Amino acid sequence: MTELICTVCPMGCRVRVEQDEAELIITGNRCPRGLTYAREEITAPKRVLTAVVQMAGGDRMLPAKTMTAIPKEKIFPAMEEIKAITVRPPVTISQVLIEDLAGTGVPFVATGTILSDEESVNKDG
Ligand code: SF4
Repeated sequence: MTELICTVCPMGCRVRVEQDEAELIITGNRCPRGLTYAREEITAPKRVLTAVVQMAGGDRMLPAKTMTAIPKEKIFPAMEEIKAITVRPPVTISQVLIEDLAGTGVPFVATGTILSDEESVNKDG
């Protein structure tokens, strides 16, 4: 039996997943979204990846994240791609930095704005 905390909404239901031959038995969820979450978490887990990107010509870093969750097994190849890039200002919030991160089809986007070499970073939280 595996126990998960559903992170889809703030209720944070404690969801239990048991494998009965080929079938997953999921209990503890208060709504169908918890079923989907638990099934995906067991069979094909995904995560939103947050990271920082090196700004060119300095030691400043730009905060960024994947636009949606990516398969967990793609996290390391994605981090390698992210470490290999540098970005020049101006960069604005939501600007796409990598179109297709690690072959996932998911864009990697800025979560801050840096308009010039001197300007500080503003994050979206
Ligand atoms: S199972 Fe439904 S109610 Fe419970 S945390 Fe997940 S989304 Fe929220």
